Amino acid sequence: MKRKSNEVKQNMDKNQPDIALVPHRRKNILTGDWILVSPHRTRRPWQGEVSTVQTEQRNTYEPDCYLCPGNKRANGEINPAYQSTYVFTNDFSALLNDTPSGQKNVQDLLQMKAEKGICRVVNFSPRHDLTLAQMEENEIGNVIALWQQEFRSLGSLPYINYIQIFENKGSIMGNSNPHPHGQIWAQESIPMEPMKETKQFQSYYKKNKRGLLADYVKLELKLKERLVYENPSFVVLVPFWAVWPYETLIIPRRKLVSILELNAKERNEYASALSVLTKKYDKLFQTPFPYSAGLHQAPTDGTKHSEWHFHMHFYPPLLRSASVKKFMVGYEMLAEPQRDITPEYSARMLREL
Ligand SMILES: [Zn+2]
Ligand SMILES: [Zn+2]
Repeated sequence: MKRKSNEVKQNMDKNQPDIALVPHRRKNILTGDWILVSPHRTRRPWQGEVSTVQTEQRNTYEPDCYLCPGNKRANGEINPAYQSTYVFTNDFSALLNDTPSGQKNVQDLLQMKAEKGICRVVNFSPRHDLTLAQMEENEIGNVIALWQQEFRSLGSLPYINYIQIFENKGSIMGNSNPHPHGQIWAQESIPMEPMKETKQFQSYYKKNKRGLLADYVKLELKLKERLVYENPSFVVLVPFWAVWPYETLIIPRRKLVSILELNAKERNEYASALSVLTKKYDKLFQTPFPYSAGLHQAPTDGTKHSEWHFHMHFYPPLLRSASVKKFMVGYEMLAEPQRDITPEYSARMLREL
């Protein structure tokens, strides 16, 4: 009986119009949010900003850069003459480790809670002029090793329950210093996005006894429509529910809850995936590609979190050239995110570069 109903369902699907070609909504299985896709709009004439490609020459060392080796930072400390990576506590931290605890609730209408945390800055390289795309794979491997070291030490602190590792690249993203660096914010609470994902991972794991992203990767490898790059340990793809035009996910094939579970081979292949993807991005519009990128990993709240599958998001804002970016305004602020070019189109563009 069951088999018959499956056959009927498939036949019904065959007679349906291809909804990928008409306006439709897609579900983000990681957050439970929905997005609107309007593929027919890619034919409309563009009368907005026109691209100008700027090539900027940068020095390997800048005397005024607070991240370059040997330079003085805002708090008066001198950076060591570091040769590879360098990590330090942010001189302008958004979270502080000595914040006293406390909360306030006025009639459930005004609610607040003190938040304790630590903000770290991770310099990827002593070279002021490089980006991840121009660094060697073994140098990117050193960055991953430092992320692991920080994740382990911050995560072992009793009051740290979540660690966000991220990079904001490019002045368009509000990054004022081009020196290759990222940040780590570690805190008491699990923030909104990872909390949504934790709930999605948990409900799928409970229902299916399998990992959400492991199943998703298997399906994408079979369909091959949204793949950008793969190696034996990692898959890079444009997610089915991507919001940003060239948004991608780097996902380990194995269900690892955090980067602490990577073996040496997997760490190298993670570095390869990062290198290939950032190089492809730079080629897309012939410009150092801006983005916000970051890892999502299991909370460090002392629970095992077998449901979790760590991954890395890339959210790049550029839409059609080095200077024309996507805006999240109007309908997107008030209703939900929307895109014109399909994730399948974006994946094909990135794959072929
Ligand atoms: Zn610098
Ligand atoms: Zn995520």
